[in-house]
Amino acid sequence: MRVVFWCDMEGVGGITKWDQVMAGAAQYEEGRRLYTEEINAAVRGAKKAGYKEIIVVDGHGAGGDYSFNSLIKDKLESGAEYVFGYRWGCYVEPLKSGCDAMLLPGAHAMAGTADGILCHTMSSQNFYNAYINGKAVGESGIVAAIAASFNVPTIFASGDEATCREVRDLLGKQVYCAQVKQSLNRFAARCLAPHDACALIEKTVHQALKNPKSWPKPLKLKLPVELKIELSNPEKSNDFIGRVGCEIVDPRTIVCRGKNFWEVWNNFWYQ
Ligand SMILES: [Zn+2]
Repeated sequence: MRVVFWCDMEGVGGITKWDQVMAGAAQYEEGRRLYTEEINAAVRGAKKAGYKEIIVVDGHGAGGDYSFNSLIKDKLESGAEYVFGYRWGCYVEPLKSGCDAMLLPGAHAMAGTADGILCHTMSSQNFYNAYINGKAVGESGIVAAIAASFNVPTIFASGDEATCREVRDLLGKQVYCAQVKQSLNRFAARCLAPHDACALIEKTVHQALKNPKSWPKPLKLKLPVELKIELSNPEKSNDFIGRVGCEIVDPRTIVCRGKNFWEVWNNFWYQ
């Protein structure tokens, strides 16, 4: 029994500002503490459900050497293994070698979501919108598609109301969601107290993992798959000149096609 958490920071309760998620910013240490507590809660939920192999991937690009390295190590829950410093969207070894489920604590809504706290898709500087087979997706959709390439279902997300809505819209009502905050605008929210957010996450992860029959199926995509990415600026398309499987449709649009989503993603995201 193996389970993988791909974690992010913007969806953590109490986090509403870039300052809380960017390395070196005044409120980053507070953000890290809140983040670490929620991930610990998710791990406790998985342990309670009987999971012995719990792999937690720090997926937040905080900047510099803190990228994918924001969890506070000496505060981490025991009974799990933690992956640090590995680029977002790339650590698929546990998916390749067999994994029961993918879970997304701390997730945020896709770029352009009116009520999405700190919403973006991968990087607000580089990308506007992403579409898989014509459907707009955020990071949760990209991760669900990566996991589904290895036949792994994405079964849980925590974050704000907009993120829960987005994940349900993509994966169906069966997906387990822990809503820890509700947007008032992109940088303001009504939040659960951190202790309550952690309790909700622990309970929801536990419920999800002990009921495998209730899980949504791995995201079904018509093959071959197409990923379309709208870039923030025309010069960004230079990175894709000559890239296998990727076509520069216009200076701000890249289309990548492949026989499954992992192949497409690998071409686009170039490990
Ligand atoms: Zn992040």
